[in-house]
Amino acid sequence: MLVIMRKGSTDEECDAVEEQIRRMGYAPLPVPGENRTAICVTGNKGPVEATFLNQMPGVLECIPVTKPYKLVSREVHPEDTVVRAGSVGIGGDSPTFIAGPCSVETESRTLEVARRVKAAGAHIFRAGAYKPRTSPYAFQGLGEEGLHTLRLVREEHGLPVVSEVIDSSLAEKVAEHVDILQVGARNMQNFALLKKLGELKRPVLLKRGISATLEEWLMAAEYLLAEGNPNVILCERGVRTFNNHSRNTLDLNVVPLARTMTHLPVLVDPSHGVGKRDRVRPLARASLAAGAHGLMMEVHSNPDTAYSDAAQTIDIETFEGIVKDASILSQLESLFEPALATD
Ligand code: PEP
Ligand code: MN
Repeated sequence: MLVIMRKGSTDEECDAVEEQIRRMGYAPLPVPGENRTAICVTGNKGPVEATFLNQMPGVLECIPVTKPYKLVSREVHPEDTVVRAGSVGIGGDSPTFIAGPCSVETESRTLEVARRVKAAGAHIFRAGAYKPRTSPYAFQGLGEEGLHTLRLVREEHGLPVVSEVIDSSLAEKVAEHVDILQVGARNMQNFALLKKLGELKRPVLLKRGISATLEEWLMAAEYLLAEGNPNVILCERGVRTFNNHSRNTLDLNVVPLARTMTHLPVLVDPSHGVGKRDRVRPLARASLAAGAHGLMMEVHSNPDTAYSDAAQTIDIETFEGIVKDASILSQLESLFEPALATD
């Protein structure tokens, strides 16, 4: 249930509605909006009786919310959310490009890749200081040393940085050095981590789990919003299927659907989605054509020598080509506008 307050309703009226929701045994969550104040009723198992709430001073109307997730849904928040990281807005009209190596590497190589992806059109730099690897014997990331290198990327190149938090105990430390905290596919349902990142209120890039349904992915995002963090970016990165011709199956059919169900930005990571560098560019184009708000890709100045995920890492020239593809696609988009309805 969403209680919509009248324009100009007072703080006292909002407080009284929240108090009444508590008296009914539920938890009120104020939803800030540009044009209205709303209070979401959470914690109910079935329909909420609205008769009393409807008659309270300042209440315009009560709208039942039919989905199990509330704060991430368009029912509660009809306008697109634009998440800000430094000077970059993710979720607006023009696509956001996040590029960089899978892992943070030596300082000089990492700074070189950052300089080159920025010149090629990247808005945000990516690289993992802590890596969740399938094998315990594989490179696990440079850890704290990597975080210091990411800080240098921000300082020297003015690029906001996204990096993964693999464990809640590392959340504060990673948040000190980077702009966006990534929750990896393997951690999408690590609820302790989600709660922690919800409390920190820093932008979070939430990757879809390897076998997560759309509803499970949105419920994971709901954890972050329910803790008071509205700065959530979703990222499709491929799911596990029976196919053995690619690392994962990039599920682009989730993109237009996710955009109708949630107001949060939806990005696509074609690198992990396909796992092979020669197919990243066509899938990048397809992702944008499907309505993604941007792309996250693994890019390196010498991809064969990347510390991790070399097979799917593209070179700078290919990244540059993708940025050009995107500008051609956005010119075409005005012709396709009716097909990209988001509500
Ligand atoms: C990554 O972005 O390098 C990564 C580990 O991604 P995912 O969690 O999608 O596998
Ligand atoms: Mn990777």
